[in-house]
Amino acid sequence: MASMKAKDGGVSSSAGTGALKSKEQGRELSRPGKLSGKGDSLEGEVRAFLTDEGELHTYDDLTKVNPVTPATVLRCLQARYRARVFYTHAGCTLVALNPFQPVPHLYSPAVMKEYHHAAQPQEFKPHIFIVAEGAYRNVQGQVEPANQSLVVSGESGAGKTWTSRCLMKYYATVASSSDGRQDTVERVERRVLDSNPVMEAFGNACTLRNSNSSRFGKYVQLQLNRSQLLVGASVQTYLLEKTRVAFQAPSERNFHIFYQMVKGATAQQRQEWRMAPDQTFAWLPSAERGLEEDRFQGTLEAMVHLGIDEEKRGQIFRVLAGLLHLGNVTFGASSDESQPCGLPENARGSLQTTAELLKVPPEELQTCLRFRSLKAGKQSALLKPCSQSECSVRRDCLAKLVYAHLFDWLVAFINSSICADSSEWSNFIGLLDVYGFECFLLNHLEQLCINYANEKLQQHFVAHYLKAQQEEYVSEGLEWSFVKYQDNQGCLDLIEGSPVSVFSLLNEECRLNRPSDAGQFRVRLEKELSPNGSISWDKFNKQPHFTVAHYAGNVSYQIPGMMEKNKDPVPPELVQMLQRSEEPLLLALFAKTNVEDSTTKGHSKVVTVVSKFKSSLESLMKILHSTTPHYTRCIKPNPDCRPLTFKKEEVILQLEACGIVETINISAAGFPIRIPYARFLQRYGAVAASRVWAQLDCDRGSEQEHTDILSSAVADVLREVLKSCCPDPWLPHGGHAHSS
Ligand code: ATP
Ligand code: MG
Repeated sequence: MASMKAKDGGVSSSAGTGALKSKEQGRELSRPGKLSGKGDSLEGEVRAFLTDEGELHTYDDLTKVNPVTPATVLRCLQARYRARVFYTHAGCTLVALNPFQPVPHLYSPAVMKEYHHAAQPQEFKPHIFIVAEGAYRNVQGQVEPANQSLVVSGESGAGKTWTSRCLMKYYATVASSSDGRQDTVERVERRVLDSNPVMEAFGNACTLRNSNSSRFGKYVQLQLNRSQLLVGASVQTYLLEKTRVAFQAPSERNFHIFYQMVKGATAQQRQEWRMAPDQTFAWLPSAERGLEEDRFQGTLEAMVHLGIDEEKRGQIFRVLAGLLHLGNVTFGASSDESQPCGLPENARGSLQTTAELLKVPPEELQTCLRFRSLKAGKQSALLKPCSQSECSVRRDCLAKLVYAHLFDWLVAFINSSICADSSEWSNFIGLLDVYGFECFLLNHLEQLCINYANEKLQQHFVAHYLKAQQEEYVSEGLEWSFVKYQDNQGCLDLIEGSPVSVFSLLNEECRLNRPSDAGQFRVRLEKELSPNGSISWDKFNKQPHFTVAHYAGNVSYQIPGMMEKNKDPVPPELVQMLQRSEEPLLLALFAKTNVEDSTTKGHSKVVTVVSKFKSSLESLMKILHSTTPHYTRCIKPNPDCRPLTFKKEEVILQLEACGIVETINISAAGFPIRIPYARFLQRYGAVAASRVWAQLDCDRGSEQEHTDILSSAVADVLREVLKSCCPDPWLPHGGHAHSS
């Protein structure tokens, strides 16, 4: 591969249309990758850089910050944020700072078109559209067409979903297959875009950290035909936080759709859903907060465009209303173990309403919630009364079961509406928007799964950019001194490795199903995993727990409740009841569900939550590895989501967590322009041809001499190309370039 270092880091300003052009300063900057000083002189430079406020905001690429330290990078981003510049290149990645206020002029269709039609979009100001356009041009491929993935990462509220939506709008605009036709419903781009409000209504919620927090991960593949027009899309979702339907942490809310329904219902719908004017729901806390309530009409319209007809919509909302009433069913304490729990007067009414809306017999619903069915040999099942808390668990389980199946059904429906036939598309651009790294006061199995997903993505990033790039330089015999980076393999081995890992021990304990399993699990973790340096125990934490040293920081996970969450048991009576419902939607949702008692002692076939999640992540990683990735790191400038407020302490932690300094160092010290020899000669060979022709004497000279002349002519061309600065930046960093 022909690898080139751009000497001045700047780019010529001959192309482009002006308004958005980068006004980057032209002064010569020394290579920042290899820090240009040590000890005092380095400190001096850092100090000089930090005090030279005037030009800081003009650094469009952090590789040009000199020297690269967390402090200088932070200062530069802060100056840019102050100057209302929200995007900055960091070598091979893009850093996106969340403005927390609308910036419409940045995202208009006119701006999209400017980036799209530019000969060299990278000469424009850093923007998510540069990443979008880079991937779009790459799809066609320099050597052969290549699928692309745009990976958007960052913590909760950093702007991942916002960015993904923005990317979708970009492709719906620049790759429109509708030829400007305004025929509404049929337009595929419209349906693709309409999948967002529907999925967000059902899968997002207001949390302490983000009023529109995605409670599921998603990978959307935008399907392009041979003419690079958007012809369809498919969506894959990951780990919906279904517990939220029945439990909301203090000051958090349920999924948006419930609030939208309650606020947006017509009088007729309220009657149908049995919602009295003063109706309150236990599962709709802090209903007065948030703006989501007013979005019901928008959600309905999007559902219509996606082809969800009136009948189906009616069924969906009836079932959801049933769940809301189910949340109002409470149970009285039972005086004696052999006696079932009582139902308070108002709970009886709620149970009756739930049964009517779910179209199941109220007696059966009551029995399912209050009795466990025990099979004794060949005899018919015995009913054993459940304790008060067990009844509540069964109620919550019913709600989670129905909601999760409904969500999956919705995703499948959306796919059937927007997915193009395989003969219609040839390549895709994938957009990955998964929950960011989470660390709360108390962390549970959900956080372990989410953080594990982030470890996998970080490993992909490290393998793709940091490791692979450096290994390639060495294999090509280039002069290179290694830049250190954090490899998270140890942490991944701890979580998912074999033969023993947190996941394998957790699954085994679930299979053994023994009493006081939390204590056993804790003991086994310590005994079998202590040698792995990524696990530890905080001696001040009296709760059974374990602490994992993630690449983004230490997180302590609570052991109590982990086994139960991993088993995610579903009482078979609940499934059987739903399978007998007269509601066609419920029949469709549960027709194929296996009625299996996962609570049975010693059951060995339980597919646990972590096993399912691990295998879905493995499929995702396979797809990511088969595509050319483009990383965007979203940064949340302050924890309170306040407009244009930059909190240094918050930002530095996020920069450290994603290893931004290492990324910049490797990108800056590396070779940003990498062209396969064949293509290089094809493109620039003409410049060398006359020179080579003049020097080659075909009758004389050995083959070796001819090769030398050719190589030296190519090297001359290379220098000339660099001098005139017309790199082809669309050639991927570590993409599908061939070495020769
Ligand atoms: P989570 O992991 O909780 O889902 P997230 O990273 O997906 O968080 P978003 O929901 O995308 O975060 O962003 C949070 C909020 O920040 C958005 O609702 C929006 O108000 C604002 N925001 C994000 N990016 C931008 C932007 N580029 N311009 C204006 N506002 C933005
Ligand atoms: Mg989100």
